[in-house]
Amino acid sequence: MESGFITSIPQQIDLIKAKIPDSVRLIAVSKQFSSSAIRTAYDCGIRDFGENRLQEAIAKQKQLQDLPDICWHFIGHIQTNKAKKVLEHFSWIHSLDSLKLAQRLNKLAAELSASPQICLQVKILPDPNKYGWEIPELLQQLPQLDLCQHLKIQGLMTILPLGLSPEQSLSAFTQTRKLAETIKQQQQWSNLAMNELSMGMSGDYLLAIEAGATMVRLGTAIFGKRA
Ligand SMILES: *Cc1c(COP(=O)(O)O)cnc(C)c1O
Repeated sequence: MESGFITSIPQQIDLIKAKIPDSVRLIAVSKQFSSSAIRTAYDCGIRDFGENRLQEAIAKQKQLQDLPDICWHFIGHIQTNKAKKVLEHFSWIHSLDSLKLAQRLNKLAAELSASPQICLQVKILPDPNKYGWEIPELLQQLPQLDLCQHLKIQGLMTILPLGLSPEQSLSAFTQTRKLAETIKQQQQWSNLAMNELSMGMSGDYLLAIEAGATMVRLGTAIFGKRA
């Protein structure tokens, strides 16, 4: 947060919208915030909401059934036994982090006639605390990911390690964009696309946009600090 003052959700959304281009999709990360906070953001024009816990998200979705044009984004690690429910309750998955999970989601998507929009989560810098592909492994597994025809793979997602300087963050985001460009140029993929970059959170979204982010995932900057 940029000031010590408590500001309202509508004010925060106005401030953020003034800073980001219209072409960048603003995803409000509502994890740990109530459905009434989501309603307030919705009334300010926000339609994309991100959640990372399945049960919590489903409970809020039930309370918000009267807002059918919300687009739900799953941004957390997916346990194998929850994969089906994630497909049933979310349009986007930003956190696909292994080939095994991709193949499972692909099979389930076929059974459910679902077409989930997907970002591949990549560890652009080493980070033992995070899920995601290391770059060489991702490059090696792309042909198998391309075979997952029921997944609409649209691009990459990254979360940076804590404690980077602005220069380091900009450089890591730029590397992510270049990785997407490299993948795009590699060969004619039959399924896989690389047009989306989901990167940037409350502390670093302007740097992410500078580096080419097409989607930013903002929680604290919109809703305030989580408990
Ligand atoms: C919580 C979370 C965010 C939002 O973080 P803020 O710092 O509150 O903006 C974005 N992306 C992911 C994957 C998250 O888990």
